[in-house]
Amino acid sequence: MSTAIFPGSFDPITNGHLKTLERASKLFDKIYFVVLTNTHKKYLFDQSERVTLAKVCLRYLDNVEVVSRTASLTVDVAHELKADFILRGLRNEQDFSYERAIAALNKTQDPTLETVFMLADPTESYISSSMIKEIAIFGGNLKELVPQEVAHALEQKLLD
Ligand code: ADP
Repeated sequence: MSTAIFPGSFDPITNGHLKTLERASKLFDKIYFVVLTNTHKKYLFDQSERVTLAKVCLRYLDNVEVVSRTASLTVDVAHELKADFILRGLRNEQDFSYERAIAALNKTQDPTLETVFMLADPTESYISSSMIKEIAIFGGNLKELVPQEVAHALEQKLLD
């Protein structure tokens, strides 16, 4: 059985994450969507809000399970969940440089753990959680960028 983790901040989950997962869900038997909280990052949505949004948006993918972890090494999360693969998305050259370094560091922690990269669909490769937040702050149209539940949550959050 092939099991992967897809770790990230997902603040919030976007159509880019969703499309990547949809495609990856055909390659692995099981994918854990791991919502992480990194101590150095500032988030718009707290951990439980990010988890709830991910659960709502991913309920149509039977072999994807959303789990929540606070600051931990990715390799430790993979071991705990008995995963052999780390899944990450690549949108552009910047992602590639960053992800290559992370993957190499993860190899020093566990050489048997493989990082698998999915190239973002061209139609989603410009979507990032940070740009989404920027568009939401200025009241822009989020329709093609995030699921409806996320657009709604952004509107609510920015009213607070
Ligand atoms: P992190 O803080 O770990 O970078 P993100 O939520 O920004 O968390 O991203 C999680 C993963 O999803 C990363 O591998 C990132 O490259 C990938 N990703 C982000 N946006 C997209 C997108 N539009 N298409 C495909 N993959 C994406």
